[in-house]
Amino acid sequence: MKVIEIDNLVKKFGDHTAVNGLSLTIEQGEVFGLLGPNGAGKSTTINLVCGLLHATSGDVKLFGKPADAEKSKLGFVPQNIALYDNFTAYENVKFFGELYGLRGKELESGIDEALEFTGLSDVRRKKAKTFSGGMLRRLNIAAALVHNPQLIIMDEPTVGIDPQSRNHILKSVQRLNEKGVTVVYTTHYMEEVETLCNRIAIIDQGKVIASGTKKELTALIDDKKSLHFTVDNAFELSKEELGQIEGVINVEIGDNEVQVESLKEVDNLHAIMEYVSHKQVKVRDIGFRDVTLETVFLTLTGRKLRD
Ligand code: ADP
Ligand code: MG
Repeated sequence: MKVIEIDNLVKKFGDHTAVNGLSLTIEQGEVFGLLGPNGAGKSTTINLVCGLLHATSGDVKLFGKPADAEKSKLGFVPQNIALYDNFTAYENVKFFGELYGLRGKELESGIDEALEFTGLSDVRRKKAKTFSGGMLRRLNIAAALVHNPQLIIMDEPTVGIDPQSRNHILKSVQRLNEKGVTVVYTTHYMEEVETLCNRIAIIDQGKVIASGTKKELTALIDDKKSLHFTVDNAFELSKEELGQIEGVINVEIGDNEVQVESLKEVDNLHAIMEYVSHKQVKVRDIGFRDVTLETVFLTLTGRKLRD
């Protein structure tokens, strides 16, 4: 079953086009990643799906129906935390539960489960203003879960928080999915979508530039291979000279790490190692690595996901 269908969505702010003909289908049971650099149009797209913004043109369906009709099945975790400082954790979640129309026992059990799920049961009587950034992020998630939605959309839920809260959030995405909840996860962290998501759409300048499983996306640049090696004195090596070796298309040299991307069909390992040993540089470890989604993005756009 199709949970979200986005068809040729456009959103203009004045003469700036934030979403530029974006189309996407998300199936029930997926953890779907929206990956793109800051300003790509991820939040605008999500806000259009949730009905918080009106589209300039295009169409969104939820659960096969016009988006407005099915909003109660959706939980939304906004990029900017939307909580009341002076309310306790319990009161914040209760507020959202009431907004969704929950009352009585259903409301109380929804609050209990949401706080339990996000690991905040022990601090339910504490005010939000005493919480760390990571706890606020988790409370933001609890508020979106109180009405037991079938679909949850999280917009950059791990930006700027401690590793412990980050792990908690990443695990909770997996646990939600195991319960049968469809998750849409927006981020500019490539590592997160690579580990969490079964399918990924790479977004740039308001458009989907590629989508599929990680395997399908990296297959788009299947004509490349990436050689990594560690050396003691990388400064002896020249990016330009390495770049002149047959088949080499890109070279990155760090303090100790060297990465050489080449066309797959050219066998240049020997030539690269000969160059390195000629420079009297000692190689400590060496190997070919899988290309990452970062390389996919770089290849498709000529730019990096993050600066
Ligand atoms: P992302 O979430 O991928 O970082 P956004 O959807 O927030 O990207 O923004 C996409 C583009 O639209 C950016 O260039 C941003 O500056 C612009 N934008 C977003 N919201 C507004 C707004 N309310 N008014 C004007 N421009 C906006
Ligand atoms: Mg955003």
